[in-house]
Amino acid sequence: MGYSFNDSLGAGLPLFNSHDYSHHSKRRVHPGNPSPIHGYSIHSPFIRKGGEILPHDRLPEQGMLPKKAYEAIHNDIALDGSPQLNLATFVTTWMEPTANQLYTEAFDKNLIDKDEYPKTAEIEERCIRILADLWHAPHPHTTMGVSTTGSSESCMLGGLALKRRWQNERKKQGKPIDRPNIVFSSAVQVVWKKFANYWDIEPRYVNISPDCPYLDPKGVLSSVDENTIGVVTTLGVTYTGLYEPVEQIAKCLDELQSRTGLNIPIHVDAASGGFIAPFLQPEIIWDFQIERVKSINVSGHKYGLVYPGIGWIIWREAEDLPEDLIFHVSYLGGNMSTFALSFTRPSAQVLLQYYNFLRLGKEGYYEIQKYTQSVALFLSNAIQKIEHFELLTDGSHLPVLAWRLKEGHSSHWNLYDLSRTLRTFGWQVPAYPLPPDMENVTIMRVVVRTEFSMELAQVFLMNLIESITYLDSMDRPVSNETKHHIAFKKGTPFSHPFVRT
Ligand SMILES: *Cc1c(COP(=O)(O)O)cnc(C)c1O
Repeated sequence: MGYSFNDSLGAGLPLFNSHDYSHHSKRRVHPGNPSPIHGYSIHSPFIRKGGEILPHDRLPEQGMLPKKAYEAIHNDIALDGSPQLNLATFVTTWMEPTANQLYTEAFDKNLIDKDEYPKTAEIEERCIRILADLWHAPHPHTTMGVSTTGSSESCMLGGLALKRRWQNERKKQGKPIDRPNIVFSSAVQVVWKKFANYWDIEPRYVNISPDCPYLDPKGVLSSVDENTIGVVTTLGVTYTGLYEPVEQIAKCLDELQSRTGLNIPIHVDAASGGFIAPFLQPEIIWDFQIERVKSINVSGHKYGLVYPGIGWIIWREAEDLPEDLIFHVSYLGGNMSTFALSFTRPSAQVLLQYYNFLRLGKEGYYEIQKYTQSVALFLSNAIQKIEHFELLTDGSHLPVLAWRLKEGHSSHWNLYDLSRTLRTFGWQVPAYPLPPDMENVTIMRVVVRTEFSMELAQVFLMNLIESITYLDSMDRPVSNETKHHIAFKKGTPFSHPFVRT
């Protein structure tokens, strides 16, 4: 091998030198490998011979140069879609360079090491106070809250607090605690179905309908009983971006309480809306201004504008988080209380959340969300004019728009075909059925994020119209598939009838 570290291949230092390795070499012979590993030179661990396939299912016998490993993975992920053209996700895909700088300064710190990194711990605490205040907690300085990996973890913690609170209350009254249930609409995010499943709680769905495509207050009233640990309302339904009427549902539960004595708490899943409504719709009452709202979660990595994964949950008052759920650990030095599903977590996202709070302030969040919403309204206004479509939501709640095909527009293509065609331009726009009882309706949804500029929106619109024109020009049905299978399937070997393998 005519290779030396002066070659372009060897830019950068190798990870190991031959001395570190020599004493291991005799033990490292793998029976299935014909090459005599014990004889390798300093060069061999770092070379990928031409045509070699990267290991997929087995730790390779030998390593490779950092640059080679980097290139291999870098080239592999080039096949991913572009995050900027991903109109399916709610999650932040861009932060400014100074935020990136802060990220790289902090990625080696473990958030749980609060004694070792007291300043980081304090910054997390500041974020909790800021959110408690933003959502009108009666005592933002003393209430409870934690950061999490995202809303999924936050929802689990919120649900657990509801369950424990209900259990403690029932025990005091000498009543059974074996059949808890939780009430939400059929359009809840999947995490609530997981929560009910993992923690043995009966999920009670209030199905959506064309008249009420979100949690129906009447349906809530007919679903709750003495075993209900809580009602979950969503501020920004994942499917459509609509806000559920938290205030109206709370009023119904107030009336129920005055009639029956049942006191059923509300958790607001504000994964997206928690960072939109306070700035764009301050007139909507949905947060701790409603006494019945006991906890609220948000994803910092959605409209909080931080990279994944960071979430938050805040309780209305300290006593809304049952004390017996909190653990106190001393093995990191000091005495630290913790309520979380994870122990070790990256701390950089917490710092980036605080960075955004400092950098943007209320004014900055308002300006950014307002712009994002104006892009959503621009798009929905244009899409409304496309004769094939019927607009379902226009982006005036979350900056999310959804539309369906009008009945009888064409028998040749559907929204799955349109989704596939848009993908040829690079756009990732999902089509999917609504949840029960509207599962016969298929919709297409665009989530507008800060990164999606008015200029990009105009290009998107052009490509949307081009896609429709192309599909309309087909004189036969495009496909019989109803689901779209664009993603590369994991582990599927390449096969084709004309290629011998
Ligand atoms: C995104 C979302 C979740 C899950 O949040 P992650 O931050 O992705 O874990 C839960 N509920 C709603 C309403 C959401 O939009």
